Amino acid sequence: MTAKTVPVDTFDLVIFGGTGDLALRKLLPGLFRRYAIGQIPEDSRIIGVARDPLSDQAYRERVGQALAAVVQADASLQPRLAAFLDRLGYRALDATKDAGWHEFADQLLAQGERIRVFYLSTSPGLFVAICNRLQAHGLNRGSARVVIEKPIGKDSASAAVINDAVGSAFSESRIFRIDHYLGKETVQNLMALRFANILFEPLWNSNYIDHVQITVAETVGLEKRAGYYDTSGALRDMVQNHLLQLLCMVAMEPPAAMEADAVRDEKLKVLRALRPIGAEEAAQMTVRGQYRAGASNGRAVPGYLDELGRNDSRIETFVALKAEVDNWRWAGVPFYLRTGKRLAERVSEIVIAFRPVPHSIFEPSAGPVVANKLVMRLQPDEGVKLWLMIKDPGPGGLRLQHVPLDMSFAEAFGVHQPEAYERLLMDVVRGNPTLFMRRDEVEAAWNWIDPILAAWEGVRDAPKPYTAGSWGPSAAVALIERDGRTWHEDSA
Ligand code: NAP
Repeated sequence: MTAKTVPVDTFDLVIFGGTGDLALRKLLPGLFRRYAIGQIPEDSRIIGVARDPLSDQAYRERVGQALAAVVQADASLQPRLAAFLDRLGYRALDATKDAGWHEFADQLLAQGERIRVFYLSTSPGLFVAICNRLQAHGLNRGSARVVIEKPIGKDSASAAVINDAVGSAFSESRIFRIDHYLGKETVQNLMALRFANILFEPLWNSNYIDHVQITVAETVGLEKRAGYYDTSGALRDMVQNHLLQLLCMVAMEPPAAMEADAVRDEKLKVLRALRPIGAEEAAQMTVRGQYRAGASNGRAVPGYLDELGRNDSRIETFVALKAEVDNWRWAGVPFYLRTGKRLAERVSEIVIAFRPVPHSIFEPSAGPVVANKLVMRLQPDEGVKLWLMIKDPGPGGLRLQHVPLDMSFAEAFGVHQPEAYERLLMDVVRGNPTLFMRRDEVEAAWNWIDPILAAWEGVRDAPKPYTAGSWGPSAAVALIERDGRTWHEDSA
């Protein structure tokens, strides 16, 4: 089956940080796939910006090398590679200096009115300088829009500084705060499952749902991100954005329409209903860990402090916490969140654990009646499994079995599922902000995170150690088992 593709309008996309890791590993491969599929008009342009003094040709070669892996994985893309590279240009600019900006602005404005997207794929420390210069040179006018990457600050105060600076150059409707988790197929399927089926919504509340688990587990360690990560940690890097956004998608009320502000209003209400976790609650409701040496994917790996080259860091590489949404729908339903580096498996999933049936009519010999679960997997192998009880097939009396109704998207539909960045980039060009975060959402998320950070600051103990390749510190198991529940495993 071929995916349906509707071409977008012609655009100029400027990637600040066009030579960086994110641009070369995610943005340009995503754009290439969209181009190869026919979604990007031929007269669109993609312009990389960084300080390195490269010619257009040298930039195309660098991007060509980065795209080699994409072509290797899908040989059908090869014939479109040269034409895609021709769409690319490069401009050497320092975001913090004025030199070259006039010429750059003239070059862009010479095209006349067309959709202009500025993707800030640089350290957030440059957002203010870039937005000020875009404004000074009139590049923020008309339908120009800006995309900003996480981290949007390290607490509410610093997020407000970034939001103010970007907001002084672009109106809110033209600011696209990207959280690529929202671009994942499964997350949109969560909306479809909830709001396009009659089956789930009547059960989607504390009467029928026992609890929710959200896990985002990585097997990688620090990679090359030590400088950034050791000033951030898992709570800021993952929970404040990705995990809370997923929680919002599960917990929000049905929006009146699949329209940006309607969806974002509902997510905001969830963030504002999160019960605060302050100094008194943090010890009971949160666990932070830091990995020690262990094994990952069958090879020995060093601990966090060894990777960092310092032994005094108290930054957490793992967080588990119990969140509660204080509203009518979710009263008494815990949301257990966990995320970490160097865990046993790379997996991101949302588990909706339903309550058990109120009474079993079966003989003990039939086996236990296990509660239903809806498991939405974001990666790897995006898909949905609905765990049900059925009769063990065949003769020999009535025995019960807990089995998944399994819908792996790739197998079920046989189409290339666009990567999150592909979809979101095209949404920016279309001007559709539904899957992007509004300023008040980002700030509400920080308002919930700030007291947890302050509580951790206030205690002297170090994060709990865990062995690389495990599922985190034993305290994370205790966090959920204290409530008589367990973390989901695929066969459970
Ligand atoms: P990176 O590899 O360090 O790239 C930074 C880019 O910014 C380079 O192209 C660099 O080129 C350019 N740059 C640095 N200083 C500049 C200046 N003064 N003026 C103009 N350009 C400048 O970083 P990254 O990993 O791509 O990450 C970019 C942003 O996305 C960061 O905020 C990061 O936290 C966020 N992010 C990254 C990922 C990821 O997977 N990498 C995922 C999520 C979010 P020159 O040095 O030549 O100027």
